[in-house]
Amino acid sequence: MFKELAKFTHRGYNFEGISEGGIRTSVVCSNLNMMFDIGSQPINYVHILNLLITHAHLDHFCGLPYFLSQRSLRNLKPPNIYIPKEIEEDIHQLLKIYQKLENFEYKFHLIPVPQNCFIEVTKNISLKAFPTVHRILSQGYTIYEKTKKLKQEYLNLNKNEILSLRLNNVELTEENYTPIISFSGDTQIEYVLENEDVRKSKILFLECTYLDEKRDIQKARKWGHLHLDEIIQHANVFENEKIVLMHFSKRYSPKEITEIVNQKLPKALQEKIVCFLPSRK
Ligand SMILES: [Zn+2]
Ligand SMILES: [Zn+2]
Repeated sequence: MFKELAKFTHRGYNFEGISEGGIRTSVVCSNLNMMFDIGSQPINYVHILNLLITHAHLDHFCGLPYFLSQRSLRNLKPPNIYIPKEIEEDIHQLLKIYQKLENFEYKFHLIPVPQNCFIEVTKNISLKAFPTVHRILSQGYTIYEKTKKLKQEYLNLNKNEILSLRLNNVELTEENYTPIISFSGDTQIEYVLENEDVRKSKILFLECTYLDEKRDIQKARKWGHLHLDEIIQHANVFENEKIVLMHFSKRYSPKEITEIVNQKLPKALQEKIVCFLPSRK
């Protein structure tokens, strides 16, 4: 269905998808069996098990019934659909109507995600939702790698001491959560400024709807979006290894996007930032 996919790889995580501001956004991370938003009908991704939805604007959400319908028709395992807790009931109602209209049952797990709580996805992967500032209720997702590390108080012990504690069933390790990926959905800059784990994620997918004076920062904020100039103003807050800009307004062609971003970015951001665009043939 997607003719030209955007692709991005970092630290062995592979992403592909499409993101066009106000039109459609859906980004798949195949290694994690995860799809962020579903603002299109990604037929090629019907096998993805975990779907994370940031908000109910249709350019991020409209593919949901089709995805569930296709998976159910194919008898695939019920997918996990992570959604903002506050819209759980509305989504249940919506899907009930689709099932009635289609006259068959969709199989799925709807998982309401409260903000700022760890939710386990697999043994080693957890997620957390952080609030974004947008025109409707909306949240970004941060994915964490979970590892075990020796508790601070045992760091100086030798092997025998550790062994004897272990034989006495003392809990020596604690869980350590490293933020690896954050995905903003639609937001104003506050999502970045107010959430440390978003700024510390190795990879940050960040919306950047507007780029130049056609719409200035004030107008972008009025619509609950980010402007490139605002990202540049806050260049020194980003601790991410890579920032992947997405959700560009269709006012700009892919060529213009690349040119404006390259021309405006300060040195500090040049190496970090990539634009999530289909590669040019
Ligand atoms: Zn959008
Ligand atoms: Zn939106």
